[in-house]
Amino acid sequence: MQFQRLRLVGFKSFVDAAEVQIESGLTGVVGPNGCGKSNVLESLRWVMGANSAKAMRGQGMDDVIFAGAAGRPPRSHAEVSLTIDNAQRRAPQPFTDSPILEVSRRIDRGQGSTYRINGKEVRARDVQLLFADASTGANSPALVRQGQISELIAAKPQNRRRILEEAGGVAGLHTRRHEAELRLKAAETNLERLDDIGRELETALNRLKREARQAEKYKKISAEIRALQAALLYVRWNDARLAAEAAAAELRAADASVAETTTAAAAAQTAALAAQ
Ligand code: ATP
Repeated sequence: MQFQRLRLVGFKSFVDAAEVQIESGLTGVVGPNGCGKSNVLESLRWVMGANSAKAMRGQGMDDVIFAGAAGRPPRSHAEVSLTIDNAQRRAPQPFTDSPILEVSRRIDRGQGSTYRINGKEVRARDVQLLFADASTGANSPALVRQGQISELIAAKPQNRRRILEEAGGVAGLHTRRHEAELRLKAAETNLERLDDIGRELETALNRLKREARQAEKYKKISAEIRALQAALLYVRWNDARLAAEAAAAELRAADASVAETTTAAAAAQTAALAAQ
């Protein structure tokens, strides 16, 4: 991985845009004490995804933003861009096909960092992984700050092992394994959750089946009740109709007997008059 150019805006003492060309061979930065040489190295770590404010010699990450100086007001954001030559196509997917990679990190005061690779917003993890795969990164042993050599000598074996692994190029694999483990764990949690949901659905399904059976039974019984009510109403109607017919016949018979009696009475009256 060949770094070509580092561009800083508002990062620490670099209030104005500054560009550092990194040529092949040895590139040196020369300047008096306190002129910002360490800030350049820190900007390199920072753009590669450093997440420790302490390693940036600050209290919080916002401390990397230019804090103001005599006659210069503080800035509200800082941005560092690193241009990488990928002519040998060594960058991992999906960046393999880009001949140049432009990695940038921007921090806005109180709002945290945003990372971009070739203008497209990515996660901090993607940037860290890009550099880890190339056996470099914010914690690479290739970046040595002041006092670090004595710290390395005094380091715990575990930390030394990490440094050696990084130098041996397996750091990227470790990061990827860790990522894969996290994804596996997330998948397991999802599976457990799906099991729970499956059980809940089965219980609900059994309840619905029971309710459906009851509804079916209710429908059948309701239909039977309606049929019986219809039959009952028909029987009552028929009884009433027969009773009405019988009453009408009785009325007709009574009418006939009234007419007969009236005729007989008239005849008797006529006979009585004739006999006087
Ligand atoms: P030395 O040779 O002593 O190690 P150096 O050249 O490495 O020094 P740095 O330590 O990189 O210099 O830079 C320190 C300078 O950066 C200091 O002047 C400090 O005030 C300035 N500085 C650091 N952070 C900020 C910030 N957030 N805003 C403004 N200036 C800052």
